[in-house]
Amino acid sequence: MGATAGGLNAAACRFVIPRLASAAIQRVKAIIPVKPAKPVRPAPVEPWTTRMSLAAKYRPQTFGDVWGQPTVVRVLSSLIQRRVGASILLHGAVGSGKTTMARIYGRGLNCSAPSADGSPCLSCQHCAASDKEIGFYEYDVPARGGTWHAIDNWLRTDERNPRNSKGFVVYFLDEAHRLEREAAEGLLKRIEDEDETRRQVFVFATTEPGRLSAALRSRLIELEVRPLDLETSVRFVSQVARDAEIAFDPAVVRLLAGLKNGHPRNLLFGLEQLQSLGNITLAEARRHFDVDHLEVLRNYVAAVADMDFGEALSILNAWNEEGRDKVSFVHALLLSTYFNDILRRPLQANPLLDSLTAGERAHLLAPFLKLFGATSPVDLRPYWLEMMRFWRTSQQAPDEEAALLLFADFHILLAELAERKSEAVERAAVSSQSENSISPLAKPPVLKQVNGPGHGFITQADVARVINYASYLPQLHGVWFNSRVKLGPILRNDINESEARKLHEQFWIEFEDRVDVSANPSFARLSVAEREDGGFVSYSALHIPAAGGAEILQELRTWARNWRSRTQDAELVFEFDVKLETAPPKIAKFHWGSALLLCGGMAGNLRDQDSDGSERDLRDLIGLPRTKKMRRDPSRLQCDPIVTASGGLSEAAIELASRLSMAPISAFDAKAWGHLRDGWEIEEYRDRRVETARRAQALRIAELAGATPEDLALIQASWEGPLYRPRQWRGWWQTGRGV
Ligand SMILES: [Zn+2]
Repeated sequence: MGATAGGLNAAACRFVIPRLASAAIQRVKAIIPVKPAKPVRPAPVEPWTTRMSLAAKYRPQTFGDVWGQPTVVRVLSSLIQRRVGASILLHGAVGSGKTTMARIYGRGLNCSAPSADGSPCLSCQHCAASDKEIGFYEYDVPARGGTWHAIDNWLRTDERNPRNSKGFVVYFLDEAHRLEREAAEGLLKRIEDEDETRRQVFVFATTEPGRLSAALRSRLIELEVRPLDLETSVRFVSQVARDAEIAFDPAVVRLLAGLKNGHPRNLLFGLEQLQSLGNITLAEARRHFDVDHLEVLRNYVAAVADMDFGEALSILNAWNEEGRDKVSFVHALLLSTYFNDILRRPLQANPLLDSLTAGERAHLLAPFLKLFGATSPVDLRPYWLEMMRFWRTSQQAPDEEAALLLFADFHILLAELAERKSEAVERAAVSSQSENSISPLAKPPVLKQVNGPGHGFITQADVARVINYASYLPQLHGVWFNSRVKLGPILRNDINESEARKLHEQFWIEFEDRVDVSANPSFARLSVAEREDGGFVSYSALHIPAAGGAEILQELRTWARNWRSRTQDAELVFEFDVKLETAPPKIAKFHWGSALLLCGGMAGNLRDQDSDGSERDLRDLIGLPRTKKMRRDPSRLQCDPIVTASGGLSEAAIELASRLSMAPISAFDAKAWGHLRDGWEIEEYRDRRVETARRAQALRIAELAGATPEDLALIQASWEGPLYRPRQWRGWWQTGRGV
């Protein structure tokens, strides 16, 4: 009892972080403050320990009772229905329900009349028998030893025919990562030598699958028992509470669900605690779980928004928490509001913050809206990015004094941001005036998709778009593609194209959020959708700002590998190819290799004119290598678009960079095939910068001299087409004319 209460208090300070969360959140996780156990609370009036515990009472006996494990249930059901006693590995956290799953599997295999979903019927003679009688043997590796000697002994002792001669003998090894190498090898041999007649099934359970022998793992069906998500946790606890006739406040259940990391057993322990306290209010529950900081936060936020930083510091000083906890709490507040209120994407950042009602959230956000003169939460995004960057780059485990100094720095940043806000408003007013006067003549070179919906394959227009955009990136932004990504197929054959598309879109939204696109204008992505044998795939070429260099890319790679769709039980296969070269010609070679890879799904019958006027295969003209990987043979896609772009290659970004009649040029459109990939773009970029500055200055001077909009239009009209600008390098058209 004492241990449980102490454990609860420690758990109360823990952050609940989904696997999808950003790097910043992962760092918060790394500084999880775990507090020492608090003194044991007075014994409850009606001790729950004397009754059968809820965890025991509500342990699932059939698949129908299991909450939130669709994949595990689907696989085990199908094995039982087909009477295939395959050996499996269940991994997941303590209390996630691995043992329960193993037992349902073992009992289902031995039941004489399993129900439609493979669950044991619970009424036949085998279902009524004990574990040992039906041949379900459990072995706790740490308690009974992980040597081959011990395991072999156990197997021999328990090796006998079960009462049910048609049944399976199930050996369940818990905490299997504690098996010694010899034991893992011995078990592997048993599994490999298994013949149909012996009907032996090995079920391994572990919290650390990575520590299990790779050879053994390769022979097992691996199933992850995942934590319940917040919504499922809430429904689960509410259902049990109703069933057990425990009165509860929905908000309290929500708080509890957030605190227990989605593990059914812990959720039920927590519910028992609440039961012992009677029907308590949300405020009481927050105090009970030691997470009641709301009042402090509210006062702090109000002081900060009034720019009363002296008051803000004394509130922090009086807050009875350790310095690093204050830092992580304020950081968690920023993360929680960023995702939940600004981006409107649900994120569990911290159980207390997750338990806030809509009214409480609005109350916390309102002072910031006022401070930054914003009308809607989404306007706060740029300020939030700056604030989160501050905490991300700050020292993360400071002592009390250092924490207060950090907060003082943070307040200076806030003051600067508020100041910048008023400047930005003025600047926007000025620039919208001058833009209006010159915009009629600006010609954005944006290429629209020309085909109707569902044209199915990469067309000539798509190829033009890919090659031109690949050329625009270095011309306009002075950078090259430095990574490429292939996504797909989805590991589920019943997923349709539009679902797959949504999944890909979701992936890129989250990816681009992690790269912090708004803070990195040179980020760019160009993608092509394709249909291959396995399903919907996409090829993408990217420029990822190398500010953090290898570290950022490594992190992205890991994130992408672990990426799971939030809404669907599906996964993407993923290839990430990164080049950190920055110097031409190597990076230019990678860049064009990536762009050509995107064109690899084009049909073989596309033709265009060569310089001598003859018609040739477009694949040869653009230099697509004659390999299977580069000349693919995709199937028809059902719907558009095929080519998509974002970041520095979005339509808006290209339009912006092309103002002042500074449209980029295209060797592809000019059919200057020999110049497609020789890297001239970076020289063009240097010349563009000089010329753009010169033109902007010319307009500015004219404006100051009192030029009318008509005068400005005349100046713009004097700027000829994109080929006739001053350049240091010699273009293909100049060679042709002998200029
Ligand atoms: Zn049965």
